[in-house]
Amino acid sequence: MSDRYAVIGNPVAHSRSPEIHAAFARETGDDIRYERVLAPADGFAQTLRAFREGGASGANVTVPFKLEAFALATECTMRASSGKSANTLIFDGNKIIGDNTDGVGLCRDIEQNLHQPLRGARILLVGAGGAARGVTAALLASQPESLVITNRTHSKATAFVEECGESRNFFAIGADGLSARQFDIVINATSASLTAHMPEVPAACFADNALAYEMMYGKGMTPFLTLAAGAGARTADGLGMLVEQAAEAFFVWRGVRPSTGPVIAQLQRSPT
Ligand code: NDP
Repeated sequence: MSDRYAVIGNPVAHSRSPEIHAAFARETGDDIRYERVLAPADGFAQTLRAFREGGASGANVTVPFKLEAFALATECTMRASSGKSANTLIFDGNKIIGDNTDGVGLCRDIEQNLHQPLRGARILLVGAGGAARGVTAALLASQPESLVITNRTHSKATAFVEECGESRNFFAIGADGLSARQFDIVINATSASLTAHMPEVPAACFADNALAYEMMYGKGMTPFLTLAAGAGARTADGLGMLVEQAAEAFFVWRGVRPSTGPVIAQLQRSPT
């Protein structure tokens, strides 16, 4: 019988994770079944329990459940505990091990696929939800000149930064303080684009040769990317990150590292 995995989220119908894991399994010869599972907004724990009790081996977790997934895990890797956010769960007997592969996925996409250096960069991270929390440790580990976090609910950004340890080059800022600063990389880690909304980011904050990175994927030129392109920034969506974080999850589950380049190209050729 195939080993069973899923991505659990709400919404989840747009997720391309099943296609990606099927492509990885074809390459490595692993026998897996990977599906989409929609959890009710207030029913993640029950959905996860039913999936696990059905004999599954692991799960990916997407918006808006990453913080809840972390809380439900019986043990966690450093990558999950640094942001209190888990996007990858491993079921091992009675244990649920929480991991987070988003940070590695984002950094690999920006540096290896998009060739934009993180080291020495001035980075603005927009959002303070599961995705932003999950990538912060990896961004800091890549030694940027600064990492600034801004969020619609400012108190969440300041609380998160305090949790991690505020410093001279890692701090939170309100939207009104942004236009006085410039950034080499601006990452939209909010879910605003899911509803075609725009987080509060001024056009003036994109430095020359800046990269605007929309973590959401498959929505074309979102309001954030449109603003960034108008300000002269290079734009990218989160498709590469999605494939890179999936490859890391596949490695965690299966112990084999699949190739990502061909899968990114395949997904770009066949947008949903
Ligand atoms: P969460 O629900 O945990 O957090 C949502 C964040 O978005 C919060 O910071 C929230 O602010 C902010 N937000 C929501 N709506 C708006 C709005 N209209 N204007 C401004 N800010 C808003 O979601 P996640 O962090 O898990 O996911 C965020 C996005 O990242 C999703 O679109 C997801 O698809 C994408 N993602 C992509 C990945 C990839 O591999 N490419 C991986 C992970 C995530 P507030 O605190 O004020 O509510």
